[in-house]
Amino acid sequence: MIAIVDCNNFYASCERVFRPNLNGKPVVVLSNNDGCVIARSNEAKALGIKMGTPAFKNEKLFAINGVNVFSCNFALYGDMSRRVMDTIKPEADEIEIYSIDEAFITFKGPASEERARALRSRILKWTGIPVSIGLAPTKTLAKVAVHVAKKSNSTRGVYTIDSPAEISAAIQHFPVEDLWGIGYRSASKLQSFGISTALQLTRADSGWVRRNLSVTGLRLQKELRGTICSPVNEDVPRKQNLRTARSFGQEVKTYDDLKEALGTFAVNCATKLRKEGSCCTTVTAFIHTNPFKREAFQYNNSRTIKLEVPTSDNIEIVAAAIKILDKIYRPMFSYKKAGVMVGGIVPDSQVQLGLFDAVDRSRRSDLMQSIDEINSKFGRDKVRLALQGFDRKWRLRQERLSPCYTTRFTDFLTVKI
Ligand SMILES: [Mg+2]
Repeated sequence: MIAIVDCNNFYASCERVFRPNLNGKPVVVLSNNDGCVIARSNEAKALGIKMGTPAFKNEKLFAINGVNVFSCNFALYGDMSRRVMDTIKPEADEIEIYSIDEAFITFKGPASEERARALRSRILKWTGIPVSIGLAPTKTLAKVAVHVAKKSNSTRGVYTIDSPAEISAAIQHFPVEDLWGIGYRSASKLQSFGISTALQLTRADSGWVRRNLSVTGLRLQKELRGTICSPVNEDVPRKQNLRTARSFGQEVKTYDDLKEALGTFAVNCATKLRKEGSCCTTVTAFIHTNPFKREAFQYNNSRTIKLEVPTSDNIEIVAAAIKILDKIYRPMFSYKKAGVMVGGIVPDSQVQLGLFDAVDRSRRSDLMQSIDEINSKFGRDKVRLALQGFDRKWRLRQERLSPCYTTRFTDFLTVKI
């Protein structure tokens, strides 16, 4: 049996773990720079607060209803996600971590629903995060099942669809646009042919589905009929590129501030690469002005540098990003956004050393390992390159940021006895 474990209102739930007084109260989390609503507790959903709406349009609604508003705290969510996944791992026969708050797992053998219920209570007890679990013969149907688990209280968070009768009942009224992997365009196409539920899609002629929705649609149809096309995959292929980009809280004008921002983004990418045991072959950096400022002149530019030897070294990746900045920076503009992307990612075990390589790679990799260890113990960027600076004029607007309860010593909760 395939199951999907999906954390309920994940970011809002993370905020609540350390603020139990917020249980039963409306909570929302805002995107970078406190822009839009990206997570809502059930109470916030009930107030009619819509996903993706700008915070400033909701201010009145927030105030009248006493909504608890948070800036996004990805250090907290990332760490809570790791705890949830670590709790799942020993209980599942296979696991594919699908996103920050979802994992596909398999239960081989009998009593999968009992195992799922036990897992659900363990996750709640060990991490404080409520999850829903959907079980079915395929991933696509498991996604349907988890929908039911979330929507209906009688399921108590776990729902199985297995027999042909259960499958038909579950997909009979299930809208095609809510199916896993169906985009807006495919959904409207299907609807224009009178196919609006998942059951209608399973009954459509396969040749027709293939012609109109390509092979992806055909796989989806098979999965709805109970045939696995997308197995639970423990080694998800490596990402081809990693990116760190930010809109600045306020516009940035000087070269030094941009250098500090790009340097920090580059270190961020390098750290992610090392975490995955990867190296990159290219470094791209970009800067641009604020496209929403109509009266201003616009400028955006980017360059890519190919590296001699693939690397995950902070110093080399920062140097490449700054070299690009030197080429593309124009002093007459104010910048709203910048970013660094690393590409051509390869496992670090496959890196071929250059014949004329001037870098002592084994010493540098020891250095990076020490930096990672110190920073993971004492907080992000505790040890940093001088150019990363301390001012961070460019930093995000995060006026309602919660403490990093689990990843920063100074933010730990104090228990009074
Ligand atoms: Mg979720």
